Amino acid sequence: MTATISLVPPRLLGADTMVPCVDGRSRRYVNLDYAASTPVMAAVWDAVEAFVPWYSSVHRGSGLKSQVSTAAFEDARDTVAAFVGGRADDAVVFVRNTTEAINVLATALPAGTRVLSSPVEHHSNMLPWRRHDLRLLPFTGSPDELLDACERALQEARPRIELVAVTGASNVTGEVWPVAELAEIAHAHGAQLFVDAAQLAPHRPVDMAAAGIDFLAFSGHKLYAPFGAGVLVGDARPLRESEPLLHGGGAIELVALDDVIWAGAPERHEAGSPNVVGVVALAAACRALLDLGMEAVAAHERALAARMWDALPGVPGLRRLALWSDEVDRVGVATFTLEGVRHPLLAAILSAEHAIGVRHGCFCAHPLITRLLGIPDAEVDRLAAELRAGLRPALPGAVRASIGLGTTPDDLDRLVDALHEIAATGSRSHYVHVAGLDEYHPAP
Ligand code: PMP
Repeated sequence: MTATISLVPPRLLGADTMVPCVDGRSRRYVNLDYAASTPVMAAVWDAVEAFVPWYSSVHRGSGLKSQVSTAAFEDARDTVAAFVGGRADDAVVFVRNTTEAINVLATALPAGTRVLSSPVEHHSNMLPWRRHDLRLLPFTGSPDELLDACERALQEARPRIELVAVTGASNVTGEVWPVAELAEIAHAHGAQLFVDAAQLAPHRPVDMAAAGIDFLAFSGHKLYAPFGAGVLVGDARPLRESEPLLHGGGAIELVALDDVIWAGAPERHEAGSPNVVGVVALAAACRALLDLGMEAVAAHERALAARMWDALPGVPGLRRLALWSDEVDRVGVATFTLEGVRHPLLAAILSAEHAIGVRHGCFCAHPLITRLLGIPDAEVDRLAAELRAGLRPALPGAVRASIGLGTTPDDLDRLVDALHEIAATGSRSHYVHVAGLDEYHPAP
């Protein structure tokens, strides 16, 4: 059953863009790649335009424009903290994106920190932890199994785990993780919780204080503010005294030829001139989403996504990838394969013939995709050996459609109709495989 859609979605730039298709006709572009990067919200663009005449250097300038810019930059910390329910004493560190935020945190923690994470994570919430003492939970079949596994792992770890680092919502399956319950379990065993909220924050309310999330990261470009700013919010204590990822100006109190006194948090983690316009945009997006109400956003997107999820199983040969059952809350992501049509070809047909933009491949989550597609270890080893030998083997993968506030029911119907047609009669055009890229382009 599709619930009623009551929210009036905000205006997004480029919503009615017409693009040429391979048959020579133009069609309205259907953007189903929100999980990668969202379009710009008009309110964000307006805020950027209003700010730009006042744009100047922050922190050290004495002119009025510098003071205005500094105030906008510093006020943005409060807006972002309010958006994710941060505590009054949490640090808000502005970075480029989620990846940088996680690297800042991983660098700040003492060498050898015992971290518990999962094999479901995006590579950005996986590789930075490998420099520490990382243990992994198993793949689990439900949130309850996940909580049990986490409890067991924390109980058995000697010495104790210090940080649990998990996703808030999977960028492959959309499954929303039970972060409040994970925080409770982590805290009961003396660990802190980091949540990668890249896919969660744009689509669900986040309340760090209420949920007990100690650290959280997300990216502006997935939150309707694609101007290159992201954020790490969290417990200021370990960030205050710790090693910064970037060494340089703006992060220090005093430098002598043989000494440096680092600033406290957040400044010590923001070396170099910051992305002031990006931060203003990010704060504007947080304000606009707070005004809409994140519960309303979630309800709106759940209803839209249900239209997609209900229709996709009717496409012959389509297999949707999921770890958990459909009862579990999911952000609007559907990742699938279509029998007989490789993922790069399916994505190319959707784009060239139907003007539908999706993403294909492994979505920076190789271990999860390998698991979901059931690829045997021997096959992974073979692919690794070929890559090491400098070859470009065709990698397994899937296609991902993801929705957001600009998505319309018509967009989803266009996707489902296109998939039905491709499943029934294949492509209308011929495609050439570009082996080096493993991409398909329409034949000229
Ligand atoms: N985590 C998740 C769950 C993501 O989906 C992504 C982006 N695909 C990232 C982390 C990394 O985000 P960014 O590229 O903005 O650093």
